[in-house]
Amino acid sequence: MTEIKTIGVVGAGQMGRGIAQVAAMTNFNVLVFDISEEGLKFGMDFITKQLNRGVEKGKWDESFVSETQSRLTGVTDINALKDCDLLIEAATENKKIKFEIFKQLDEVAKDGAILATNTSSISITEIAAVTKRPEAVAGMHFMNPVPVMKLVETITGLETNKDTIDTVEAVAEKMGKTVVRADDVAGFAVNRILMPMINEAFYTLFEGVADAKGIDNAMKLGCNQPMGPFELADFIGLDTCLAIMEVLHEGLGDTKYRPCPLLKKYVTAGRFGRKVGKGVYEY
Ligand code: NAD
Repeated sequence: MTEIKTIGVVGAGQMGRGIAQVAAMTNFNVLVFDISEEGLKFGMDFITKQLNRGVEKGKWDESFVSETQSRLTGVTDINALKDCDLLIEAATENKKIKFEIFKQLDEVAKDGAILATNTSSISITEIAAVTKRPEAVAGMHFMNPVPVMKLVETITGLETNKDTIDTVEAVAEKMGKTVVRADDVAGFAVNRILMPMINEAFYTLFEGVADAKGIDNAMKLGCNQPMGPFELADFIGLDTCLAIMEVLHEGLGDTKYRPCPLLKKYVTAGRFGRKVGKGVYEY
């Protein structure tokens, strides 16, 4: 297995900042890169707040916070990632953006470095194909919020070799996560099941079967789900939900994956969910 000491995280949004935080907490050196200076600052400040909140709650002490922070560095130049052993990409769920990032990472990363993506749905084989090291590319699908959620879904692309998948799984386990391995089919396992349910909730609202609160309560109280589908969709990001539905629709070719027009309408209006203060609900 490849020895991993330094991890580069690409994207300091909801997922990237969580991955970076947990990696630093579990003794990896971490560089966090974001294309947006503002996004990077927000992400790094968010990590500081989360670590300090842990002290207030008695989960760890201040020396743990300073040790964790000493392993974390924010960067806005992608070339700073050149010495990383593993890169975990967690940028916006968009094929064009991810292909561009992987071409750049392939140029910048040292020989032997592993490139992983936190994509929710985009084909690992396709992402790997834009690099000259497809054998060293794998999916590492963390769940939101990363510090809380136990699962990492790992995904093997067509060319992913054993060392790569074994290494990313060992890293996920060192980060305290449980691994479920999935094949490289649109949506993998988690979103193949979750997103059609969320999309169906939008159709249920769209057709006036019940209102948003009613649908959320039906699923919480009637099906024992901890969050209703709209609460969860707002938490994930409606833009991300739509992007995943489009990948399922295109990748699996079945009309049952057609994104609901109401979901599209919310995204067109910029109602991306909690991260912008309004989605199905207002925050
Ligand atoms: P987000 O919108 O919160 O953050 C995306 C970040 O990527 C932003 O900070 C943005 O500035 C940055 N970015 C965009 N282009 C970039 C580039 N070229 N280089 C570097 N950074 C760039 O999104 P998110 O919710 O954190 O999602 C990130 C990835 O994680 C997506 O692939 C998404 O599908 C996946 N994911 C999301 C969830 C979730 O619940 N939100 C769960 C699992 C996986």
